Parts: sequence; structure tokens; C-alpha cells
Amino acid sequence: MSESNHIIYAVYGASGFGRGVMPFAREMLEVGTAKVVFIDDNPSAPTILNGHEVYSYQEFLSLPHKNKYVCIAIADNHIRKVIVEKLIKDEIHHWSVQASTSVIMDNVEIGEGSILCSFTHFTSNIRVGKFFHANYYSYVAHDCIIGDFVTFAPGVKCNGNIIIEDYAYVGTGAIIKQGTPDKPLIIGKGAVIGMGAVVTKNVPAGITVVGNPAKPLVR
Ligand code: UDP
Repeated sequence: MSESNHIIYAVYGASGFGRGVMPFAREMLEVGTAKVVFIDDNPSAPTILNGHEVYSYQEFLSLPHKNKYVCIAIADNHIRKVIVEKLIKDEIHHWSVQASTSVIMDNVEIGEGSILCSFTHFTSNIRVGKFFHANYYSYVAHDCIIGDFVTFAPGVKCNGNIIIEDYAYVGTGAIIKQGTPDKPLIIGKGAVIGMGAVVTKNVPAGITVVGNPAKPLVR
């Protein structure tokens, strides 16, 4: 095996999001120096997808490469957490992926295992935890604090002075109103913000809100 063949990279999840991530994930690597594959545990997944081999996790583990890097491109944050635990146990490296068109400005810290899709934008003085997903065209403005395993669907507008706690999910096109330095707007742990919601007030942990202005979902 040549030196370059000791390394393999994988996008975990070969469904909608994984296929959307693969092109800019691949672009981060020098062409021809490393192999990039998909991992998907669905037995009916194809063996080749958009030119990349597809392996189950068990098959991926048995590949001979010494260094294996994985980014988890699955939007469900609880599934991500389970997969992270497997990767740690199996000593697989986390692969943080950032599209070349994603903009990061001053004093922004983003934890390991994140995926920053094309045309995402982070302005200044922002802290983001581990395994964050920012889907296409999402932005995070100044002075925000975002926890671990948070997911932004496409086009999320997260304005300044907002705190988003662990495992929150923010749906496509949601707008979160700016907080203030002394009173940030808080999205609680595990809260779900429906697509297109306009969030004007704090959202308690574990609650789903929808609409404009966003209100708890009554099922
Ligand atoms: N998946 C997997 N292992 C798991 C859980 C999910 O390989 O333990 C795969 C699943 O087979 C599917 C993908 O992850 O192909 C998730 O796709 P889905 O369309 O549900 O979500 P999205 O692509 O939007 O994140």
C-alpha cells in the first residue's frame, strides 16, 4: 500500500444530506491523494453512488487503511450521537467539513465534526459546539453560543445574541429574532423549530414551535 492509500475518508449517510455534502467534502481533499467513500447501513443502499463506493459501517471497519476519517452527514442529531460513540470506540477520526464558499469571520470557534455547507456564513464572536450541521445558506450572526449536536436545516437565519442549547433542531428557513447582550434569546435543549417559523421569544427545552410568531405545536 502506498502512503496515500493508508488514509480513507467517508461521508456517513448516503441519503439526501450525505449526497449534498459529498461534493464539497471531496473538494477539501487533494485530488488523487485520498479515497472518499460513503458509509450507509441500509442493506438496500447501492454499492456505488455518484461515483463513490458505499460500505456498511462493518465493511468500512474491515478496510485495510490505517487512518480513517468520517464526517456524519445525517441530520437527525440523536442518530449522530450514537454514531459518534461508535466512531470513538473504534478509534476513527472525526472529519470536519467546510465548503469553500462557507465564510467564517472574526473570533469564531466551531467544535469537531461539524459540517458547514455551501454559502453558510458565520460573522464574529461565535462559539459552536461539536457535531454541528449548518445546511446550505444558513447564517449565524455575532455573539451567538450554539451547543453540541445542533442541526440547522437550509436557510436558517440565526441573528445576534442567541443561545441554542444541545440537540436543538432548526427547520428550513426559520428566522430567530436577535437577543441583546444582557438578555440573549434562548432556544432550549432539544427544542425543534418548525420550517419557516419566526421565533421572537425564548423556546423552552424539548418544545416544538411553529408559525409566525412561533408558538408551541398543538398536536
Ligand atoms: N443511516 C445509517 N446508519 C444509521 C442511521 C442512518 O447508515 O445508524 C443512514 C440511512 O440508511 C439513510 C441516512 O443515514 O440513508 C439518513 O438519511 P435520511 O434521508 O433519513 O436523512 P438525511 O439525509 O436528511 O439526514
